[in-house]
Amino acid sequence: MTRELRDTSPGSSPDATPSTFASLDPRTGTVLAEYPVNTASDVAAAVERARGAARWWRAQGFRGRRDWLLEFKKAIASDADDLARAVSIETGKPYDDAMLEVMLTVEHLDWAARNAKKILKPRRVSPGLVSVNQSASVGYQPLGVVGVIGPWNYPVYTPMGSISYALAAGNAIVFKPSELTPGVGKWLETKWNSLAPGQPVLQVVTGFGETGTALCRAGVDKIAFTGSSPTARKVMAVCAESLTPIVAECGGKDAMLVAEDADLDKAVESAAFGAFGNAGQTCTGVERIYVAEPVYRQFLDKFTAAVERVRPGGSDADSYGPMTLPRQVDVVRSHIADALDKGARAVVGGIDSVHERFVDPVILTDVPEESPAVRDETFGPTVVVNRVRDLEEGVERANSSAYGLGSSVFTGNRSRGREIAERLRAGMVSVNSVLGFVGVPSLPFGGIGESGFGRIHGADGLREFSRPKAVTVQRFPAPLNLLTLERSARDMKISAWMLKARHGR
Ligand code: NAD
Repeated sequence: MTRELRDTSPGSSPDATPSTFASLDPRTGTVLAEYPVNTASDVAAAVERARGAARWWRAQGFRGRRDWLLEFKKAIASDADDLARAVSIETGKPYDDAMLEVMLTVEHLDWAARNAKKILKPRRVSPGLVSVNQSASVGYQPLGVVGVIGPWNYPVYTPMGSISYALAAGNAIVFKPSELTPGVGKWLETKWNSLAPGQPVLQVVTGFGETGTALCRAGVDKIAFTGSSPTARKVMAVCAESLTPIVAECGGKDAMLVAEDADLDKAVESAAFGAFGNAGQTCTGVERIYVAEPVYRQFLDKFTAAVERVRPGGSDADSYGPMTLPRQVDVVRSHIADALDKGARAVVGGIDSVHERFVDPVILTDVPEESPAVRDETFGPTVVVNRVRDLEEGVERANSSAYGLGSSVFTGNRSRGREIAERLRAGMVSVNSVLGFVGVPSLPFGGIGESGFGRIHGADGLREFSRPKAVTVQRFPAPLNLLTLERSARDMKISAWMLKARHGR
């Protein structure tokens, strides 16, 4: 079976609901392994088991969960080579890129394990003047069972960005990995089971969109979805049937801004990594670059020279691997063709750069802003470099996207960089680097608009998978007793006077 024979479009499964599907090596199309297409009843059974495991997990308390998760982290880190190899073989990315993904994953798991108690445990808050007789506290309790639906491009880092934080917050997980990377999902489940075989706190169900839909309908307490914006809409519609909340981590069209005072060598190095790393299949990859007029020519010359050294291929020594999702090749080709039709120039590569499995790097310039290459997620190793008058125009163009995931700005003036970062319509911004935020576990990760909503990572990520619990404990009777059917005229009169005195002036 070759990959081309398989329809992997969202929500579809090949043939008439086959009972298994193949995971393939995208470099060659050869079959790596077969996995079950889990049905709705398989998914329901997994969620049922997870309910029991969630009770055990919750009973471990913050301390117990921290210890378990640090064991899990240790087990992953000590077997990191094997996991990186599993990632590399199913996605086609070079081994070192896969290892980098594992390293980042482990850092996040470590942070989530160590910080959950501090962030989520009940803490006293001021009751305010009107309720001075109450002691007030807020704590964050587990939701129960969280369904995680993951993509294929970072098959460990991305879903573990939800899984680590949801586990640390006390939830059990049922994870549906992408149909392109089921082996990586199974690897994580097996690793957990090797530590706690009788406690299915992390289970994996495999299959296509239907299995994901079944997870949305299985009565989980939240869905953490990462994938494309069109699929997020379908997931949200199904979750709406049962008021199941979701966090949606979707696509992006990240812009990089280069100011006239930027370190151009650094900007070029980062642009090449951000645009072509992982074959451009990065949600927060650089897809648009806006360069200030005075340095535009110089930036483009340096960038072109750097990108001419970039080599795609199927070996670990290559700069990046194949397109993991075969039909994405058509999107990449159409964006290039449309831009060229509209008068853009290809300064590196062109339409012939798009091959059957691999795409050579492409730099397009002077691309009209209304083109799909500027507006829609390309998710391939192509990048648009457009000239702008200055950073002000760059911000305006960057912000005119429907997406708002990440972005970056290069300038010699760091405080200007911070100021621009505040004004960019994006969930995350890096100044003088690209993807600077992905390795900072204390920072929230998530987008705006078409890029989705809700946050993973950091304190916000822990709270995303928790339910706030508000508690008051009455310490002494209220000086003014208003919460009674036998309220006195005196208490009411004093209260009304206080209302005006405190707030009416
Ligand atoms: P996709 O939307 O095709 O699939 C994502 C997951 O959803 C897969 O597991 C798939 O089987 C499942 N799915 C498909 N149809 C479904 C349905 N109807 N109901 C429930 N589940 C369904 O996305 P993909 O191609 O796997 O991933 C690439 C996309 O993910 C890109 O848009 C990329 O930008 C985005 N992404 C975002 C982030 C982020 O953190 N914001 C991270 C990585 C990838």
